[in-house]
Amino acid sequence: MSTEQFTTHSPEETISLGRALAEKLQPPKLVLLRGDLGAGKTTITKGIAAAFDAASEDDVTSPTFTLVHEYRGPRVTVYHIDLYRIETERELYTLGLDDILGDPNNVVLIEWGEKFPDLMPEDRIEIRLRTTGDNSREIEILETPGGPSCSNAG
Ligand code: ADP
Ligand code: MG
Repeated sequence: MSTEQFTTHSPEETISLGRALAEKLQPPKLVLLRGDLGAGKTTITKGIAAAFDAASEDDVTSPTFTLVHEYRGPRVTVYHIDLYRIETERELYTLGLDDILGDPNNVVLIEWGEKFPDLMPEDRIEIRLRTTGDNSREIEILETPGGPSCSNAG
């Protein structure tokens, strides 16, 4: 398990970090975004989706109500999923997560995936965000071993 740690001091910096991280997110990839409300999970997704030309930063908004947002880029489709309101495994299945995760062109970013630890594939990257001040966030990137993740991306 490798870990990298960053500190950002504005939403813009977090978006830039997301853009940089996208390089190691070659599809198919599952990314769990962990952190409290307001930690910046959706903000970092703006940078990731923008890096794949899948959406503009402003187009990426919280999937709180629609639960699944799909952003199609020329090469990669970015899915941004929020499980905050999902309470049961049955509800989770209705989202079609298996199909989404099974598509080799997808980068799948999930907020609150830790609610269903047994249903989240182990081969994944976790981005953990922590609020350390009004505008500062500590951001850790954890890669599980065995993930084909970051070597020679692109
Ligand atoms: P989450 O999806 O984790 O609930 P959001 O990304 O929706 O969080 O919201 C993060 C909020 O914190 C936004 O209002 C953003 O402007 C603010 N913010 C302040 N500083 C930062 C920072 N360094 N990184 C990310 N967001 C920040
Ligand atoms: Mg969010």
